[in-house]
Amino acid sequence: MRGSDTLVTCDQCSRRVPRTKAVDFEKRFSYGTELHNENDVKSMMFSRKVYYCISCAKHRGIFEKKKQQAERAAHRFD
Ligand SMILES: [Zn+2]
Repeated sequence: MRGSDTLVTCDQCSRRVPRTKAVDFEKRFSYGTELHNENDVKSMMFSRKVYYCISCAKHRGIFEKKKQQAERAAHRFD
C-alpha cells in the first residue's frame, strides 16, 4: 500500500505509466498579469508536479535537465 504500482498520466501524451518509470517535473504557472499588489501576485503563482513518460521526457530534454540538477534519475536507464 505504498503506491509502488501507482499509475501516473503523462502530461504530454496522456499515456498511463508506472510512477517508478515516469519522470516527475515541476511546472510553474503564474496568473498575475492583471494584478498590481505584490501579495496578490504571489498568491496567484503556484507550481504543479507533472509526470512524463520516458519517451516524452527524452523528447523534451527533461533527462538532461535532471542530470544537471541531480543524478538520482539516472539509475533508471536500461
Ligand atoms: Zn508521454
